[in-house]
Amino acid sequence: MFRRRARADREFREAQRDALLLMQAQEPLPFDTVQAEAPASAGSGSEAVVPDFPPADLRAPSRQDVEGMMMRWMQPLVIDGEVHACPTCGAYRDWIVFNMRDDSVWLRCRAGHQVQEPRLDTAWYNRNSGPVDRWHPTLEDGLRHLGH
Ligand SMILES: [Zn+2]
Repeated sequence: MFRRRARADREFREAQRDALLLMQAQEPLPFDTVQAEAPASAGSGSEAVVPDFPPADLRAPSRQDVEGMMMRWMQPLVIDGEVHACPTCGAYRDWIVFNMRDDSVWLRCRAGHQVQEPRLDTAWYNRNSGPVDRWHPTLEDGLRHLGH
């Protein structure tokens, strides 16, 4: 009796699953409807329809969402007790500091020379950076915003 019942249940579940697959195959309509209604229900503004590029004021991006973080560093940058200078032009202030998703830190001088600084990492960056207040769609946009 148990066995018969279990078999019946399984057949029922299988029948259900088939019905579900069939419905999805034959009726794409529900999904179309959802997509068509989404912009209207999301409210005003065309930005809301592009989930990949949310404006900064809508959502604070997490580290997983971005290629990296960047900040401007006006004063001389001291690494291991020494004022760091650009190896190419010798500049020692007004850096853009990047912290990339792979944990690396890069320094970019005012003249645009960009080198990785292996003595700095994400932990250092987090200790020395303020809260993220802006999201930039491109590197150029970020540099412009930071005055470079
Ligand atoms: Zn330089």
